[in-house]
Amino acid sequence: MSDLREKLFYEQKNGYDRLDTRERVALEDYCREYMAYLNESRTEREAVRNAIALAEEQGFKPYVPGMALKAGDKVYKNNRGKALMLAVIGKKPLSEGSVIAGAHVDSPRLDLKQVTMYESDELCYFKTHYYGGIKKYQWVTIPLELHGVVALKSGEVVDVVIGRDPEDPRFVITDLLPHLAQDQMKKTLAEGITGEGLNILIGSTPYDDEGKDRVKLAVMSILNDMYDITEEDFLSAELVAVPAFDVSEIGLDRSLIGGYGHDDRVCAFAELKAIFDVQDPEKTCVCILADKEEIGSEGVSGMQSEAFDCFMADLCAAQGVELRRCFENSFCLSADVSNAFDPNFPEVSEKRNESKVNYGMAICKYTGARGKSGTSDASAEIVAYLRRLYERENVVWQMAALGKVDQGGGGTIAKFMANRNIDTIDAGVPVLSMHAPFEVVGKLDCYMTYKGVLAAYADR
Ligand code: MN
Ligand code: MN
Repeated sequence: MSDLREKLFYEQKNGYDRLDTRERVALEDYCREYMAYLNESRTEREAVRNAIALAEEQGFKPYVPGMALKAGDKVYKNNRGKALMLAVIGKKPLSEGSVIAGAHVDSPRLDLKQVTMYESDELCYFKTHYYGGIKKYQWVTIPLELHGVVALKSGEVVDVVIGRDPEDPRFVITDLLPHLAQDQMKKTLAEGITGEGLNILIGSTPYDDEGKDRVKLAVMSILNDMYDITEEDFLSAELVAVPAFDVSEIGLDRSLIGGYGHDDRVCAFAELKAIFDVQDPEKTCVCILADKEEIGSEGVSGMQSEAFDCFMADLCAAQGVELRRCFENSFCLSADVSNAFDPNFPEVSEKRNESKVNYGMAICKYTGARGKSGTSDASAEIVAYLRRLYERENVVWQMAALGKVDQGGGGTIAKFMANRNIDTIDAGVPVLSMHAPFEVVGKLDCYMTYKGVLAAYADR
């Protein structure tokens, strides 16, 4: 009777029951590297810069239009410092398609407005405009650090990082004391802290003179000393406030990783490691680190941009192949995180279909909302392909869905890849507290996502 159950029923198994000692060691090594990458990659620009440094160590060269390419060549294209595409040229021509993995390296955060600095009641602040889907109340009373660039009129671009070094000062958005929060506490979580209320405290000492805005003047003169900038230079700056938490292991068993920006740098790193590790691939392997996913994949550095088509067309041209032939035969893993089932909030999930921590790489056939609106919905044939591949390559994986029907929803870059006539499916790491200043993932799932991408790249 139990044999029959085993034969006929679909049962999931905790990933740790499927790991041998060798893999446990490999998993820890992998996660140590990921944690170091994440800790130093707090913006899309930093994620791209650090990825390029790693890629160059692995022999990747900047792609120059018109360059001759042969099997085994490793090239990358830096899209304006905010997005990155890497390729390892395969033995088969691009007319037979490529294997693409696409993740994004932008994460929810607080962008400084262009006219950002002001003084109020002898305290100095930055005004912000949040980026991506955040729960605003989570961003108050946590230490923040400042990252980004100031583009000067001269054309020079100044890099800014304040708060990453342990000796650096940090910043914060204050909240109301409970004693006086009677009215605030009656508001909804969405209304208790407002977008225009996300003002960052940056100083309190007045400049030693008799004029107006003495605190602002003192703060501005410190910035002028540090970076040689004036208030007008903020007009052409991209400065962002991100949580100042270090990436750390979570749990007494150290099985989880806490940090800012797992979504989606955890998949970006998995792809990077996979394209570094793939040996003599049959098909050309392509790794994308996209920007702007959190605001709809818009803009020149987002996945809707033709920057990707341009890069792929260049690779195809080197082989005399038409881009559309390549795309129609290509396969894409849209490597993005999924919602991990949270026992603290079971009411939003339909447990049978939700991804779980430690159950491996989460394959999401469809995202979307309200009757699957806005999803590319991968075909059954693609899911069958992954079942076959991952059984053969010993990748621990699971199906994923985004919450109960009609509970909410979301999307990824998948539909923008599928719209290009590329077979695409979402796959990635389940996350607890997604989009919070401090997100949590399981080490096993991080490692299995790397293995899952590598298996696709290496498939013959
Ligand atoms: Mn994402
Ligand atoms: Mn996201």
